[in-house]
Parts: sequence; structure tokens; C-alpha cells
Amino acid sequence: MKTQNSEHEQNQKDPVCGMDVSHAAVSEEFKYRDKTYYFCSGACRETFEKEPEKYIH
Ligand SMILES: [Zn+2]
Repeated sequence: MKTQNSEHEQNQKDPVCGMDVSHAAVSEEFKYRDKTYYFCSGACRETFEKEPEKYIH
């Protein structure tokens, strides 16, 4: 029997401000290069949209 090790449930971090945005707290998401990023607010998402490369390491 497998333990619940869902990768989808791992903590998501807002790449812009670094805030922990687990699913309950996610208010914005943005898809970039087949990956979905989550943000605490629309302001952070807009910042990311302008310069995604800056926040992806
Ligand atoms: Zn944020």
C-alpha cells in the first residue's frame, strides 16, 4: 500500500515574495512553460508575468 505522497500536495511557494501558498491560500495562478505557479495575490502574479525568468531558478 502506498502512502499518500502526492506531489500535488507539496507546499507551493509564491516565487515572487516567497510566501507559502498552499492550496488553501492560493488566489492566483499562472501557467508558464507547462508549469503552474501560484501566487498570494494578483500583484505578485503580475510581477511574475513581467519577468518570469527572474523568479525561476
Ligand atoms: Zn506573493
